[in-house]
Amino acid sequence: MRKLKGIGVSPGITIGTAYLVPKLHQSVSEHRIPPEEIGSEIQRLEKALSETKEELEKIRTQTARNSGAIEADIFNVHLLLLHDHELKKEIVRQIKEGANAAWSVQTIVHQHLERLGKVNDAYLNERRYDLEDVGKRLLRNLLGIKGYLADLKEKVILVAHNLTPSETASLNRKLVSAFATDIGGPTSHTAIMARALEIPAVVGLKEITEITRAGETIIVDGQQGVVIIDPDKSILKEYAKRQADLRKSHRALSPLKDVIACTRDKHRVTIGANIELPVEVSSVLAYGADEIGLFRTEFIYLNREDLPSEEEQFRVYRHVVEKVKPCPVTIRTLDLGGDKFASALNMPEEMNPFLGWRAIRFCLSQPDIFKAQLRAILRASAFGPVRIMYPLISDVEEIKTARTLMEESMAELKRENKNFAPSIPVGAMIEVPSAALTAGTISRYVDFFSIGTNDLIQYSMAVDRTNIRTAHLYNPAHPAILKLISEVIAAGRKTGIPVGLCGEMAANPALAFLLIGMGINELSMAPLAIPEIKQMTLLITMKEAMECAQKVAEMDSASEISSLLEKKWAEIMKRKINK
Ligand code: PEP
Ligand code: MG
Repeated sequence: MRKLKGIGVSPGITIGTAYLVPKLHQSVSEHRIPPEEIGSEIQRLEKALSETKEELEKIRTQTARNSGAIEADIFNVHLLLLHDHELKKEIVRQIKEGANAAWSVQTIVHQHLERLGKVNDAYLNERRYDLEDVGKRLLRNLLGIKGYLADLKEKVILVAHNLTPSETASLNRKLVSAFATDIGGPTSHTAIMARALEIPAVVGLKEITEITRAGETIIVDGQQGVVIIDPDKSILKEYAKRQADLRKSHRALSPLKDVIACTRDKHRVTIGANIELPVEVSSVLAYGADEIGLFRTEFIYLNREDLPSEEEQFRVYRHVVEKVKPCPVTIRTLDLGGDKFASALNMPEEMNPFLGWRAIRFCLSQPDIFKAQLRAILRASAFGPVRIMYPLISDVEEIKTARTLMEESMAELKRENKNFAPSIPVGAMIEVPSAALTAGTISRYVDFFSIGTNDLIQYSMAVDRTNIRTAHLYNPAHPAILKLISEVIAAGRKTGIPVGLCGEMAANPALAFLLIGMGINELSMAPLAIPEIKQMTLLITMKEAMECAQKVAEMDSASEISSLLEKKWAEIMKRKINK
């Protein structure tokens, strides 16, 4: 038995049989082609190229239909790589020198991969995976390997060095019950697709492909980010029980989809969904969110060489708005920088990117880029209720400038006879301590607040949210964080604007209980977390939540607060929902 720790990117537990996805270099060896067969070898290459093109076009169409235009764009990049004349010329040159086509493809693709790996540019580095993907596909067609992942015969857990976007997009959900990969991070395409497909997944396991043998039993725990290879009987039993419990609670929670989140003493809580991709709209509806509380828009700008046009953005926002209408959609303007970079923008390397040219700071210094997004959002507002939200506000002046740019955009659209809603609520994300402490001032210039605790915690406690070594210091139950949240709630109340919270802590039922007691009106979270939070609201009273919040406000330490919440939560979980 071996236990590996990676990054859980899509929750759920699966126990199953490992299927090792072959690596490109394992498949081909070199042999010499006699001069009279060189012509037909080149023809084989041409045939494989056109088969690959057909496959990619098919996947692009399917992806556009199932997931949306943005996801389908990934395959435009692949098609471009396939049409790269230089690449083809180099492969043909190798064949003319007497090498077999498969080996030539493998060698040339590897040379390019190595070159790209050495380039100090995040965008070009990422293109390696696209090129590897196209190379694998071309090789399979040359070798006549049909099916590959798409033709799996039985249910398996995929174990791969890395799954490429096209592989992930074409996975058969009925036959792939989970996957585990050596590399990858939580914001990789593969991770995003796994969440959208609701397949449990753990990435960044470093050496899983070295350790696992095909056909072995493995456990993938996407929640904890753990994979267990060849588990012994007791572990197998434990995980089978955890899996059954999860399924049971999933089943028990599913009727809550159509229920309104409301405490026993009739206090209504708005439940929002956080999404990063238009494809997640189906989960928003399936889990019964009242609204999209956070639509992160960075994805449109990433993994491409050019900037998205206003028109392209408008189409994406309109699609989402129309799909969830009459539920409102809170569209957050671009939050690039920190750990997200778009190559088209050529953003400089910084010593402290999380403290640097990020989010609203970047947008205000690039008014053309910002206004293209604002105009696209405004135009989408003609098709359903939309709210605009600005990330990383640290000073009221930023709100004022953003407002001016929005008014300019509105005036332009009016002149161009383009429609937008007559009134669009504008909000500030409160995720920097300076904004929390001056929330009273900021509240006079916005229509709502949304507290982004993922960042608020990192900035208040000086803990990089992406650093594993300091992760133990990152604590939402710290008195300092709760004090800042209280300040924001009080400021919102005084001015009469709603205060929501869209950080990960909203998805934790015990913390969400506390937040409701503190006076949060709206909690927004990953769609999958919604049923459990709805259930929590049905089991509690506002009165007890407020009492708990009062006790917590007097406590000195995070551990004291956590143990009180744990005890309280255990007690709440024993209750039954009132019919
Ligand atoms: C947050 O900071 O809490 C938040 C919701 O925004 P993001 O995670 O996208 O930074
Ligand atoms: Mg944030």
